[in-house]
Amino acid sequence: MSASAKEHLFALAGNPNCGKTTLFNAITGARQHVGNYPGITVEKKEGLCSLDGRTLRLVDLPGTYSLTAYSLEELVARDFLVHERPEVVINIVDASNLERNLYLTVQLLELGVPVVMALNMVDVAESRGIRIHCDELSRRLGIPVVPTVARRGEGKEALLRAAVDVAESGRRWEPLRLSYGADIDPALQDMERLIVEKGLLTDLYPARWTALKILEEDEQVLGKAREADPALTDELLAQAAKVTQHIQKTLDSYPEAIIADHRYGYISGLLREGIVEQRWRGDRLHLSDQIDRVLTNRFFGPLIMLAILYGVYQITFTYSEVPVGWFEAAFAALGSWAESVLPEGPVRSLVVSGIIDGVGGVVGFVPLIFLMFLAIAFLEDTGYLARAAYMLDRVFRVFGLHGNSFMAFIISGGIAGGCAVPGVMATRTLRSSRERLATLLTAPFMNCGAKVPVLAMLIAAFFTENRAQMMFLLTMLAWVFALVLAKIIRSTILRGPSTPFLLELPPYRIPTFKGLMIHTWERIWQYISKAGTIILAISILLWALMTFPGLPEEKRAAFEEKRQEILNALPEGVRTSLEASETPETSDPVVVQAAAALSDLSRQEATEALKHSFAGRMGTGLEIFSRWCGFDWRTNVALVGGFAAKEVIISTLGTAYSLGDVEADESLSLSQRLQKDPHWNPLTAFAAMVFIMLYSPCFVTVTCIVKESGSWKWGLFSMAFNTVVAFLFATAIYQGGRLLGL
Ligand code: GDP
Ligand code: MG
Repeated sequence: MSASAKEHLFALAGNPNCGKTTLFNAITGARQHVGNYPGITVEKKEGLCSLDGRTLRLVDLPGTYSLTAYSLEELVARDFLVHERPEVVINIVDASNLERNLYLTVQLLELGVPVVMALNMVDVAESRGIRIHCDELSRRLGIPVVPTVARRGEGKEALLRAAVDVAESGRRWEPLRLSYGADIDPALQDMERLIVEKGLLTDLYPARWTALKILEEDEQVLGKAREADPALTDELLAQAAKVTQHIQKTLDSYPEAIIADHRYGYISGLLREGIVEQRWRGDRLHLSDQIDRVLTNRFFGPLIMLAILYGVYQITFTYSEVPVGWFEAAFAALGSWAESVLPEGPVRSLVVSGIIDGVGGVVGFVPLIFLMFLAIAFLEDTGYLARAAYMLDRVFRVFGLHGNSFMAFIISGGIAGGCAVPGVMATRTLRSSRERLATLLTAPFMNCGAKVPVLAMLIAAFFTENRAQMMFLLTMLAWVFALVLAKIIRSTILRGPSTPFLLELPPYRIPTFKGLMIHTWERIWQYISKAGTIILAISILLWALMTFPGLPEEKRAAFEEKRQEILNALPEGVRTSLEASETPETSDPVVVQAAAALSDLSRQEATEALKHSFAGRMGTGLEIFSRWCGFDWRTNVALVGGFAAKEVIISTLGTAYSLGDVEADESLSLSQRLQKDPHWNPLTAFAAMVFIMLYSPCFVTVTCIVKESGSWKWGLFSMAFNTVVAFLFATAIYQGGRLLGL
């Protein structure tokens, strides 16, 4: 077929008064024909023109603001696109009303028709001081944009050429996939899958569009769907009803409104910077834009953001202290109650140290997660989170991450003292799976509230002079490690382009209390129900590792013998009370000394038992490796225990150094003990701190990584990867320091 024989069908679409008819007349001149669409009174204008030997047939569609089924005009325009399948839709847009006009454009793109934009009335825009950068607009929308002045016929040839190019490039329908937020997206995806599976109306509409229309309760699409497959339509409607209910409950709104908000958000993101100089403001967006002038201001924006983040941090970690304390107290009480009713032995130890401590560990996080999600839900529902991400995106992009990664890092301990569990869960605001994975793999490098006391204990022992500086250095190091490793991960195993930052800035809205509560509760329940079961199992496993196989009989007997020796040297009455391991209420120096000797003995026995346990043997076995970074079995077993929860490192070191149960807030004696130990010096301490900072996240975090990434693979990966990284850096520090003679 030669080019001269080609005929193309183009449709002209646009809002009323955008200059559609003027442009149509300018292009077709006298070669036009006015009729009616069959059966209705809506006028149908068709015209012909020729360009480079091709015949172009143009149809002037009725002017519409939208592609819903509310008016006859919209239905006619929509049906024409779907049934007549013009090769290109020339979308005429009023440049002086760009933001509002783009609402139709976005819907055309969502429908998937090939679009060429005529940016009309640029003369009017210019006379009002508005300049629009067409190339950038074209790049962001992914369609040709041609400036025109229809009244003077300017730009019509360039426009037609662009349309012919698109028509002859063989571009097929490619629907734009917008996100409509966390409440709609998953349901939409499910519906889309069903529609594709059953081929419902797929000859007419893209599946996602059909799903969207069913959510919007579009009468026409529903009618056609019912005709084609009544059973499936009912199923889809049921799904849609669920979403509608949910949105009504949580956001006090309707899917249509939420969808429209996201379209406006998309547009407002699109026009954000570098497209319109001095733009017109729509009513819906007016207030939002006013607020944004302050909140995303180059200078004040970051300051306000820091203040807001600091607030979130305060709320999450300060206000949760009290309820966390209640939970701890309740579980401690439960533990001592179980201790008092159960006979001494492995069952008691399992119930108290395995089950109650394990479950307590999980439940203890709940107040923290509750407040964190409440704060995030608030920032998300108001629309602020999108703004923060927008401001931070440029920095994070350098490291292959996304503006939304910031929240996860901060919560995980970016300001020392967070927690990686809610941090990992906060990566949900990320949409690209690569960026999300990279974030949830590196966020645990931050210094969480459980690592801080361990680091503080080591700092107190070896860096007495400059404690604050050391803590600050470690916080900075955590950021450097997290960002650099994210970059490495993103350029190797998770290589791939950064997703274009589809900035969607929905208008600000005031969230409802009920909506916040429901959103928060959904997330907490997920945490408790899914993480809880796995966590219990692993907590029991770790308990078993540190308890079994127990001391061999002859060693136990030897300890028992020594105990009897001490007891036998005492008068009768005191002996029985000491045997019952009660502290006698006396200041008799003989008795006090004996009591001290006895508890010393049981600590030594505990140390022996720990060394003899599976975990202890692992610690000893690991010395082959850990020698490289200067750790002996005691440190190793503490690190193994630290997998249960990082604060366990202190208590395990306490047991390993025969200090008994050392609590985080009274770790001074451990500090002193380590200071005197020949194994430890500032260099080993620094290597240990870096190791603790970087090595495998605790298993609660790992469980969350598994859940968030949807696969065990990433949980195991993070354990192995982080530990290897930790080992390499600790070794480099230790060996490097020794070479320098430290
Ligand atoms: P329609 O409703 O989209 O068909 O819009 P019309 O073609 O009827 O145009 C509406 C008004 O805008 C008319 O008065 C046109 O003369 C005017 N108009 C159309 N295009 C332009 C343009 O590019 N520049 C200026 N200044 N006026 C225009
Ligand atoms: Mg008209």
